[in-house]
Amino acid sequence: MDIGIIGAGASGIFTAINAKDEKNKIILIEKNEKIGKKLFITGKGRCNITNAKFFDEFLDNIIVNKKFMYSSFTNFDNYALMDFFENQGLKLTVQRGDRVFPKSEKSSDVIKLFEKLLVDKKIDLKLNENVQKVKKESNKFIVKTNKNVYEFDKVVIATGGLSYPLTGSNGDGYKFAKDLSHNIISQKPGLCPIKISGNDLDSLNGISLKNVSLNVECEKKNYREFGEMLIGKKFITGPIVLTMSSLINREKVKNIYIDLKAGLDFEKLDNRLIRDFENNSNKDIGNILKKLLLNAFVDVVLKRAEIDYHTKANQITKEERYRLIDEIKHFNLNFAGLSPIKNAVITSGGVDCKELNPKSMESKKVSGLYFVGEVTDVDCLTGGYNLQIAFSQAFACAKDLRRVYE
Ligand SMILES: Cc1cc2nc3c(=O)[nH]c(=O)nc-3n(C[C@H](O)[C@H](O)[C@H](O)COP(=O)(O)OP(=O)(O)OC[C@H]3O[C@@H](n4cnc5c(N)ncnc54)[C@H](O)[C@@H]3O)c2cc1C
Repeated sequence: MDIGIIGAGASGIFTAINAKDEKNKIILIEKNEKIGKKLFITGKGRCNITNAKFFDEFLDNIIVNKKFMYSSFTNFDNYALMDFFENQGLKLTVQRGDRVFPKSEKSSDVIKLFEKLLVDKKIDLKLNENVQKVKKESNKFIVKTNKNVYEFDKVVIATGGLSYPLTGSNGDGYKFAKDLSHNIISQKPGLCPIKISGNDLDSLNGISLKNVSLNVECEKKNYREFGEMLIGKKFITGPIVLTMSSLINREKVKNIYIDLKAGLDFEKLDNRLIRDFENNSNKDIGNILKKLLLNAFVDVVLKRAEIDYHTKANQITKEERYRLIDEIKHFNLNFAGLSPIKNAVITSGGVDCKELNPKSMESKKVSGLYFVGEVTDVDCLTGGYNLQIAFSQAFACAKDLRRVYE
């Protein structure tokens, strides 16, 4: 049995090393000069391999096609993946948020292990070979690269998405899938910064916020994420923003705002202001607010509430106080779209999961053709979930590839 795997990223490599046995011949084709270019930059070079959360909580972090992932994840879950790495001698560490990294915190150690396994398993790795066309003629797949034409019994497309195209993932897999008559769910950026506009935001550039909530009102649904974020020039980013981008990337956004005091409801915040104003009745409101808000926000919030910085606390009317609370709890940002896919951590969308068998990742339309990893329409949040789905899908595919000739 001749198997061709296109793409030596996380999913392609893992498929190859798990599918290989003495009965098959596997050619792994990669357009780059080395394997795992994207893997190398994951987790800021530390490679957040997976997440140690238990089943239900883990699955909650799969936000598109969670049900589709049940079967491959159940067959090869995060604990099976951790066992795999530890058994291969790669020590792991579990950090904040149950994120799992190599103990060395070096993605290069994961890649080194994969390189060794590819050699040990005698997988024929073709580097610097760019697959240009995949077609099926009678029972064989013809795969044309810039250097060769191959004939395979089975083909696995593991070409990744469209994000960070310099790593090699530039969307070729969607083209191959389309040519082989598959439906592609349109691609959107996932886990990316959100662009904002506004004349009064310049002074907030570089500010990082904790314990705030980011709220997005969309046509059909409203979203709220609580935690940490960062304000940049014309964009926001950070953990809650990345999550939010994936939740809203197919929504029509109407309004986006930060609740700067998410821990206090309207009444509690009002009581706090009344108390602060009474205790500092002759002081400028601007100075009083510095105890409540980050300095950079005081000016902006006061201007938006149309209150002069130097107004004495005892002169603030109830209406002004309410306006102030409104600005603090609904600090509006003008939504200007999501960052382009090339800057997004993942590509949302891809090969329609309805056309794939969730147990094997084989196409329901073209037998012997498989899709694994980011090329499929499965998205997860940050925390190691995206690599886990790539590994779980790869394992399912590999198991099927071994089964078909057993
Ligand atoms: C900056 C960044 C950090 C990330 N950090 C994490 C993290 O810490 N944890 C996590 O879970 N996820 C992380 N992700 C997401 C994760 O990296 C991807 O989801 C995962 O790598 C997808 O694996 P893949 O094998 O499907 O695709 P890829 O890793 O993109 O691999 C696809 C491979 O196919 C090759 N290829 C494409 N077209 C062709 C062709 N025509 N011919 C030959 N070869 C081809 C490419 O060169 C590439 O090597 C991160 C992503 C980014 C961008």
